[in-house]
Parts: sequence; structure tokens; C-alpha cells
Amino acid sequence: MSFSDIPVPVGPVYEGERIRAKQMYVELGGPKVEKHFELVRVKQPKEIKDGQVTIHGPDLKDMKEGERYPIGILVEVAGEQLEEDLEAVFERRVHEFCNFVNGIMHLNQRYTNWMRLSKTAYEKGFNSLELLGQVLIRLYKAELPIIKQAQVTFYTDPKDIEEPYEMAMQIYDKRDERARTIHDEDVDMFYGCVLCQSFAPTHACCITPDRTSLCGSINWFDARAAAKVDPKGPIYEVPPKECKDKLAGEYTGVNEMIKKRSLGEIDRIFLYSGMEFPHTSCGCFEAIDFYIPEVNGHGIVDRNFDGVAINGLPFSAMANQTGGGKQMPGFNGVSIQYIVSPKYQQYDGGIETIVWMPKAVKDRVGDFLPQDLVPKIATEEEVQDLAQLKEWLQEKNHPIVETWAEMLEEEEEEEYEYEEEGAMVPMGTVGMTIPGVGGAGGFKIILKNCKVHAEAIIIKKIEPKGKRKK
Ligand code: SF4
Ligand code: ZN
Repeated sequence: MSFSDIPVPVGPVYEGERIRAKQMYVELGGPKVEKHFELVRVKQPKEIKDGQVTIHGPDLKDMKEGERYPIGILVEVAGEQLEEDLEAVFERRVHEFCNFVNGIMHLNQRYTNWMRLSKTAYEKGFNSLELLGQVLIRLYKAELPIIKQAQVTFYTDPKDIEEPYEMAMQIYDKRDERARTIHDEDVDMFYGCVLCQSFAPTHACCITPDRTSLCGSINWFDARAAAKVDPKGPIYEVPPKECKDKLAGEYTGVNEMIKKRSLGEIDRIFLYSGMEFPHTSCGCFEAIDFYIPEVNGHGIVDRNFDGVAINGLPFSAMANQTGGGKQMPGFNGVSIQYIVSPKYQQYDGGIETIVWMPKAVKDRVGDFLPQDLVPKIATEEEVQDLAQLKEWLQEKNHPIVETWAEMLEEEEEEEYEYEEEGAMVPMGTVGMTIPGVGGAGGFKIILKNCKVHAEAIIIKKIEPKGKRKK
């Protein structure tokens, strides 16, 4: 495969490239553009003109420097062994293949896709989507040899994109609907994915019927189809083996998988918890489940939300805390689809601990959540700060309010115990961990050879205390 006719270099080495606003020639899609998508469809060979690239709307050279445009990327493929179940997995590769191009940055997937073209690439002659289409077609056929023919269509005009955008949304819905029909206990195989290791080397997804991949683009059916056609590829089988804890979703097979794939960094995962041994998060999660200590509940913020979440942080700040392949109790990358699973973070108390989410997310998932809970979940339209949230939760009698009395009792008991024991405490060398927001990370203070005299030591637990429902 040669890219000698492409004016910029192409290869996996460019995958981590970042293009900042001042370096960009144009932006395609992203949170400030209304309609954008990327979709792969499996077709009959006769429906495809192999190698054809079509552009509906302005091409790169017709675009104004510094502006934003819609982007629809429709990749159609054919091959004897192809089946519809493979579409989502092929689609996820758009991200990787676009990032191979030196001068293109691609983020996210489905209808949150977001691209930037650098000024340098444009100046070198990368001035047409025809070039990107050719790169995609060649990479698809070379990296996935079961694809025999491919054609690519781009949509950059706000009018022209409407119809294909609606079609894409319907297809995503259909995939998600199917994923809701089965649950973890119905299957004897889970799947893993390491496609994001180029960005987050210790991250591997475990994809189960209830826990759709956090990028939202690969469900259990998709992963099964991918592992079948390419068992040695980035998506592979994970035999769950022994279930050590049903509520937490701890399986020996999943623990073994993450230990091997994270090169020993992580050796334990609770599939249904964001608070203890949470699933790692790379960077492309659709949403973040975050703990709100002030109300002992959880919020959900998605990447399309451009305001400040109820804890005072925008999505981007929380994403930095969450991502990178770490286990970060209190901040957990999740897919929108996982929110509607009956096992959603059940170890932490499940969906009933959710107190806040953006209106747009509530509109999307509301129909699939317990109907008595939905009106009790606040959004940015009803409350603006934690004081208002507390009031709202009390007023609506949100189930989380029941946990507050218990929380206060626990705190009082802790204070009482230690106040009784005013004493000279020989401390020697002592390490104290000061947790960061959400009770994770933070820093450690080491006191060497010290003696501390105190009338009283008041220790208040501030680590996250998700109330569990057994
Ligand atoms: Fe694969 Fe997970 Fe990355 Fe999605 S988020 S591409 S499932 S590793
Ligand atoms: Zn990722």
C-alpha cells in the first residue's frame, strides 16, 4: 500500500497528534456544529464503485480558513464474509485511520465525531476530502482484508447532510435497541478491546451485554462479530470464568484480561462500579459518571454538554481527571447505553443514586429508566448549584435523601470516637493522603520523626461513600 500520491505522510506514528485551535485550518463536526456523523454500511458488491469518493457540499479548498463545517462520513464496504454486525466495529476504525494522516486530528465517534485539519497539512497540498477518502479506502482494504471493495461519501453542506444524518441516527438507535435485549447472565462470553491503547496504554475495554463499550460504539453483538472474523485482532474473546461478586460484576476472567492487557498495572475490575476498582477510562467515553459527596449521589455529564456540571466543573475538566487508562474512583467513563442497563453501577447503589444529568441526556434515556425516578433527577434547567440541588432532592423526595441521615450519623460517630482520646500521639513517620476531588488521586504528606500533641484529633471521612444496595 502506498501513500506517495498523498501530500502528507500517513501512518500510525501520527495517531497521537493534537491540533490546537490556532494551528487549525478548518474544523469539521465537533460540539459546536449541529449535525455530523460517521457511519459504515455493508453493501452488495454491485452497489459499490470500488475506490470512488463523492463529496456533497464544499470541499476543503472551498472552505474558509478558521471556520467550522458539518461533516458526514459514509463508508460503504463489500466482501463475501461481511455481515451487518461488523458495521459498528468497522466504523470505530474511522477514528484510527483519520488519525494516521499527519495533519488531521479526529476525536470521538458516531454523531460526536470531531476533526481538525492543520494549516501545515493544507499548505502542503492536503486540500481535498478526495485525498482523505482515498486514504480511508486503502487503509480499510489493507487493515481489514475481508473488505474487498469500498467507497466513501462526505457530506459538508448543512442541507445535504440532513437525510444521511437521520439515517445514521436511526441505525445507531437500532443497534442500541438490540443491545438492550440481552444481559450478562444470558451469555458465556465477554469481549475485550484494545483499540484505544495508542492513547491510553493501560486501558482495555471489557464489553458485555450490559456494559456497552464506553465509547458507545461497540456493543456485545458487534464485538462478538469482530472477534469471530479476526480472533487475533484488537477485539477478542474474554471468557468470564468464575463470578466472584455478582453485585460488583467481578469475574476472574476479566481480572486476568485486564492484568495482561494493562501490562500488570491493573489487576481487578468491578464492571458495575465507578467507586471501587472501576473499569478504566481511555478518553473517548460518551459520558462521565461522577460522585457528588455533598449529596452522596452521582451525576452524569456527556461530552455534548457545553455548560458547567452541577459540581462546578465542565466536561473537559472532568475528562482530564477521568481518562488516560487510570482507575479513578468517583469519575468513571461510561456509554449512554450503559446508563439504561439494569446493572448500571449497581454496586454503588445503581440508577437510584443519579441526582443530576444534562437535559439532553435525560431526554434520551428517560423512557428506559424507572418512571418514578425520572422526575426526581434534576437537570441544568432546574438547578444551578449544589444548594439548589439539595433542596430539589428533598422536595422531590429523591431516594438518595434517605441516605443522608445515615451519612450524618456516621460522621458524628467518627468525631465522637476521636474526641474522647486527646493524647500525645507518637507518630514516627506517617503518611497522610489528601484526596483530590471525588476522593481519588490527590497528594500525600509524609511527616518524618515527628511527635504531635493534640487535645483532640477530629478525623472526618471525606472519601466517597457510595451507598450500596445489597
Ligand atoms: Fe475499543 Fe473501548 Fe476504545 Fe471503544 S473505547 S474503541 S471499545 S478500547
Ligand atoms: Zn478510547
